[in-house]
Amino acid sequence: MSIDRKLNQDDLILITGAGGFIGGSLARYFHDLGYTRIRAVDRKPLPEWYQRVPGVECVSMDLSEKQNAIEAVKDAIEVYNLAADMGGMGFIERFRVECLRSILINTHLIDAAWRAGAQRYFFSSSACAYNTDLQRDPHCRALKESDAYPAMAERGYGWEKLISEMFCQEYWAERGLETHVARFHNIYGPNGTWFGGREKAPAAISRKVIEAKDTGKLEIEIWGDGSQTRSFCFIEDCVLGIDKIMHCDKLIATPINLGSSELIAINDLVSMVEGIGGVKLARTYDLDAPKGVAGRNSDNTFIQSVLHWEPNTPLAVGMAKTYAWIEQQYKDRKAGKRVVQD
Ligand code: NAD
Repeated sequence: MSIDRKLNQDDLILITGAGGFIGGSLARYFHDLGYTRIRAVDRKPLPEWYQRVPGVECVSMDLSEKQNAIEAVKDAIEVYNLAADMGGMGFIERFRVECLRSILINTHLIDAAWRAGAQRYFFSSSACAYNTDLQRDPHCRALKESDAYPAMAERGYGWEKLISEMFCQEYWAERGLETHVARFHNIYGPNGTWFGGREKAPAAISRKVIEAKDTGKLEIEIWGDGSQTRSFCFIEDCVLGIDKIMHCDKLIATPINLGSSELIAINDLVSMVEGIGGVKLARTYDLDAPKGVAGRNSDNTFIQSVLHWEPNTPLAVGMAKTYAWIEQQYKDRKAGKRVVQD
């Protein structure tokens, strides 16, 4: 089904967090679709952006400052807010203040977008907004949209997402700004962070397997006991999903899951990556490492019913592409070349 965007090719699209993984991929996606005025904003200095798309206006500024948010939205028809201080479990369990402070970004940006008369506003929420009590078992049922309330979100990061979602809903209800909210479930793929402390399980496991092969130390350390389950959504499905959700009238101010429903235990993900790398490793388990909730999957009933679509790249296909990209990055780093890094 084609997407009715109600958008001219030269309407200005603002993407924040564009120096990072998903924002950068989204800028490339709209650029490749032929949109000619894309403004990409990120706090990071330009040389540190994961991707710089030719023809896209790239601006380095801190959007937790109100004046910068006002500047960023100037003339924007659509605003995609993907800026947040975030990382994998290792990051969000340790840096709750940083995660909570991302509230400043969305608070200033949505107000600036409304004042500037933007037509549509997108907020990137997270499965971490869901009630953690429902995720205590690796075999717990998949999370549906109504499971966010009664609220018991992930401390710090999840609460910031939940309250920012509420801003989106109330700016629509009280002020008429059209807002759209997707709850992402573990997005992975090329051009994401893969070392340094913010990386998530798919990238971390790929890197560890590549490292083990390279050093000949055929071991891998797994966080937790490996029985925790997750679903992982490939980046190409994610950017397509953002586009579909932003341009669906039935999804105004209505948070929706954007995730894969292919559930896997971390131990099985390790086996999958070993298979891709053609190696078998001795496993050790760090039971004190951050491991997040015991189980989490995306219930895609709602997205299927509204969009007749759901993220559908098989994990094995997406992981093979991700592994190949990280392997190249690993070689480049070794050769002293510039790589994606925080
Ligand atoms: P990322 O860390 O790669 O990108 C986020 C970017 O935001 C970074 O480049 C960072 O420099 C920028 N940023 C942080 N604070 C800023 C500020 N004050 N001003 C301007 N820019 C700032 O992360 P990502 O994976 O691309 O995530 C994008 C969005 O999706 C975030 O809102 C994140 O919470 C959400 N999300 C991601 C996942 C996932 O699995 N990757 C899952 C759920 C939700």
